[in-house]
Amino acid sequence: MEIIQLNNKPFKKYISSIEIAESCTKIANQINSDYKNKRPLFLAVLNGSFIFAADLFRKINLPSDISFVKIASYSGTNSTEKINNLIGINENIEGRDIIIIEDIVDTGNTLHYLFEILKEKKANTIQIATLLFKPEAYKWNYPVQYVGKTIPNVFVVGYGLDYDGFGRNLNSIYILNENNMLNIVLFGPPGAGKGTQSEKLVNKYSLIHLSTGDIFRANMKGETDLGKLAKSYMDKGELVPDQVTINMLEAEVNKYPNAMGFIFDGFPRTVPQAEALDKFLAQRNTPLTLMLALEVPEQELINRLLLRGKDSGRTDDQDENIVKNRIKVYNEQTAVAAAFYQKQNKYVAVNGIGSIDEIFQRLCQSIDTKSVTP
Ligand code: 5GP
Repeated sequence: MEIIQLNNKPFKKYISSIEIAESCTKIANQINSDYKNKRPLFLAVLNGSFIFAADLFRKINLPSDISFVKIASYSGTNSTEKINNLIGINENIEGRDIIIIEDIVDTGNTLHYLFEILKEKKANTIQIATLLFKPEAYKWNYPVQYVGKTIPNVFVVGYGLDYDGFGRNLNSIYILNENNMLNIVLFGPPGAGKGTQSEKLVNKYSLIHLSTGDIFRANMKGETDLGKLAKSYMDKGELVPDQVTINMLEAEVNKYPNAMGFIFDGFPRTVPQAEALDKFLAQRNTPLTLMLALEVPEQELINRLLLRGKDSGRTDDQDENIVKNRIKVYNEQTAVAAAFYQKQNKYVAVNGIGSIDEIFQRLCQSIDTKSVTP
C-alpha cells in the first residue's frame, strides 16, 4: 500500500493510473459508437476535470468540439445565499449534442445547475461523462450515462481532484487513510537480513523504525528517568520489567505524532509485552497491522553468520555455538510472539531465502494484502 502525505494528511492509493486509463478508454469507446455521424460539443467542468477531459478527448475519434466551463460561486449579500455564475460558454448551444465532462459526480448539484442552463439554451441532447460517480451521495435524477468507476461516499484526490489545493497532479487516485497507520512488528533471526529489509520498508512506507535496543541505549545514555530506572534493575542483575520497556517505547512513539506508522524491531519479546503494546496502540486507535517473521533455515543462517564473522571480525558471528544459541533464543521468542499474533490473524511468515529485492517484494506483498484495501 503506497501512502502519501498531502497537507499533513495520509492518503493511500485507491484507483491506479492503469485502471483510470481503462475507464477512460471504456467511456471513449462508448461515446465514439453512440455519437457516430454526430458532432458533439464536450463541456468540461473546471477545475477538477481538466486532466480527465484531456485524456478522454484524445481518445475521441469523432469530429467534435470542446469547451471549458467553470462555475464560480460567491456569497450574496445574505450570508446564507450562494450565487452561482457559469463562465466560459461562448458557443451557441442551441441544437447541439452536449456531453458534460466531470471528474466526479457527488451530490449532482453542479450537474443540476448546468443542465438547467443548457436546457434553457435549447441544447438538443445533454449527456454526462464522469470518471467517478458516488451514487450514494447523488440527489438528482439526471441519468449519468458514462461512468468510469462507481465509488462509495468517500473523499478522493488525485488525477485533477484536489485536497485543499494539493494532489491534482497525482497520476492515481487516493483516498484518505484515517486512523490507518501501518504498524509492523518485524522479526527475523540473526543473519536473515532484517536490518536491510527494515531500512527498505521504512523508505517505501515512510515508517519510523523503533528498535528497543536503540531506545534502551539512548535512554540510559541520556540518563532519562526511565533510563535510570532500567539501569537500576540491570545493576542488580535483574531483568528490566516489561512495564519499564513499554513506557520507554510509548515515550518514543509519542515523539512522532504525525508518523505514518512504525516498525517495531526486537519487540515484543514476551506475551505481557505484546499485550501492553496492543493496549497502548488501541488507546491511540492505531492497532498493529501485522507481525512479519523472516524465515531462514538454521543451517543457512549459521553459514551466513560464520561467513559474515570472517569478514566483519564480529566475535559473536565467529563462534558456531554462540551463533546457534542466538538462533535458539530467537526461535523461542518468535514462537511466543507468533502464537500471540496468530490468534489475531496478524502473523505472516515470509520466506527469507533469495535476493534482497525478492525478499523485499514478498514483505511488501504481505503488507499490501494485509493493509485495508478499498
Ligand atoms: P457535486 O456534489 O456537485 O456533484 O460535486 C461538486 C464538486 O465537488 C466536484 O466537481 C468536485 O470538485 C468536488 N468533489 C466531490 N466529491 C469529491 C471528492 O471525493 N474529492 C474531491 N477532491 N472533490 C470532490
